[in-house]
Amino acid sequence: MVGAGPNGLAAAITLAQAGVRTVLREARTTIGGGLRSDELTLPGFVHDVCSAVHALALGSPFLRTLPLDRFGLEWVQPPAALAHPLDDGSAALLERSLDATAAGLGPGGTDWRRLHGPFVRSWDDLARDILAPPLRVPRSPLVMARFGLQALRPATGVARGLRGTAAQALFAGNAAHSFLPLEAPGTAGFGLLLTVAAHAVGWPIARGGSQRVADALAAYFRSLGGEILTGAPVEHLDELGTARAILLDLTPRQVLRIAGSRLPARYGRALERYRYGSAAFKLDWALDAPVPWTAAECARAGTVHLGGTLEEVAASEAAHPRGTVHERPFVLLVQPTLFDESRAPAGRHTAWAYCHVPHGYAGDVAERIERQVERFAPGFRERILARSVLTPADFERRNANLVGGDINGGMMDLRQVFARPIARPTPYRTPLRGVYLCSASTPPGGGGHGMCGHHAARAALADLMR
Ligand SMILES: Cc1cc2nc3c(=O)[nH]c(=O)nc-3n(C[C@H](O)[C@H](O)[C@H](O)COP(=O)(O)OP(=O)(O)OC[C@H]3O[C@@H](n4cnc5c(N)ncnc54)[C@H](O)[C@@H]3O)c2cc1C
Repeated sequence: MVGAGPNGLAAAITLAQAGVRTVLREARTTIGGGLRSDELTLPGFVHDVCSAVHALALGSPFLRTLPLDRFGLEWVQPPAALAHPLDDGSAALLERSLDATAAGLGPGGTDWRRLHGPFVRSWDDLARDILAPPLRVPRSPLVMARFGLQALRPATGVARGLRGTAAQALFAGNAAHSFLPLEAPGTAGFGLLLTVAAHAVGWPIARGGSQRVADALAAYFRSLGGEILTGAPVEHLDELGTARAILLDLTPRQVLRIAGSRLPARYGRALERYRYGSAAFKLDWALDAPVPWTAAECARAGTVHLGGTLEEVAASEAAHPRGTVHERPFVLLVQPTLFDESRAPAGRHTAWAYCHVPHGYAGDVAERIERQVERFAPGFRERILARSVLTPADFERRNANLVGGDINGGMMDLRQVFARPIARPTPYRTPLRGVYLCSASTPPGGGGHGMCGHHAARAALADLMR
């Protein structure tokens, strides 16, 4: 195994559970990939460097079968998953309860319930089919067909079918997690996956920080006899000696670097054509008090989306693919210490926020992000004790998988959701016997669900058994 992100760890566990002796090599001195936490600002303030909210881990058909609570993982569920404040001082809330959410959305509430109800009730079937390898016959074809009819649409189309500014903005913010213009086909699918997950399993954070998810996965892996080597970057496949299977939790660009000379030219060219997407520009703050929201109910939510109306969110998400950043960028903010006091000294707080910027963006949008927070929480800046800035280049320096600051392991447009990294019945297998890809650059793509790793390991196990 090369790389100890959530997919590498999930793949390693799948192999170890099957009794295969498994060694995991990680380039950095700490494990976790997108699940790392660090004192980015001041001593005693623990920040999630990347992933912070774990609907996809808790809802993962594989990760939820693991006894991670016995290995130190405790999920914390904020009272509401998400708040989306508006300029009139109100906020739309995505509550765990479908009814409570609908009640807060005025006339759009009925539309929200009608859109989500069937999928929330079928979450287990839906998650299994959506987070499955592509081009498989779904296990629940009716549910998937119904979901597909909505998911394949542009997010703007689905959002405009909901009455009222609040419901439209709430849906748009979720769809913006796609890093794509909201007019792009398939963006509704991102919105729906996240909103349905909020109702079905919640949007939890990990007590103590996301690093605890990685640490629990690693501890469980070791309990199965697995071995982890840190500070052990793999520069070339030849270093891996006689391993009967090699699984790479890497994106195509790194695969080309460490295996390029051995890959058939045609496959190599296909990997070269793989497209990376827009990037994240992130701020973390140490605060002397909670964020002073105008809409007080924002304090009930783990995540707060700052972007105003559907039209404004759509304008922001149309800008970065064109190489610019909107004056008022859509900002995703998480406020973990309201629900997990262990992450900061007594009475102090942290906040995590990023916006989308063009791939490899070299500019500075810290001021624009803070202006967006200030817009919905006047006085926020006076609460700041210290800030950390992570640019696209900083992300890539910390983790080579974050190419140009792309956090999803490659663009997630419709084409690359299915052809990930290239169109093949089992995209995890490479033409090199015994070498597999298992990162977020394989289906089902980005997020801390570990399903890319699990599916890749199952493909490897099937070959080993043969
Ligand atoms: C800012 C940010 C916010 C995010 N927020 C969320 C969120 O809230 N919820 C969510 O579900 N997802 C979120 N994500 C996405 C999520 O973190 C990723 O999709 C996920 O971590 C991908 O997992 P992975 O195992 O494929 O790769 P990674 O997690 O990137 O892990 C790859 C690992 O491989 C190691 N590695 C790289 N090259 C080598 C080498 N040559 N030799 C050995 N090791 C190597 C790296 O150091 C790293 O540890 C976020 C990501 C970022 C960056």
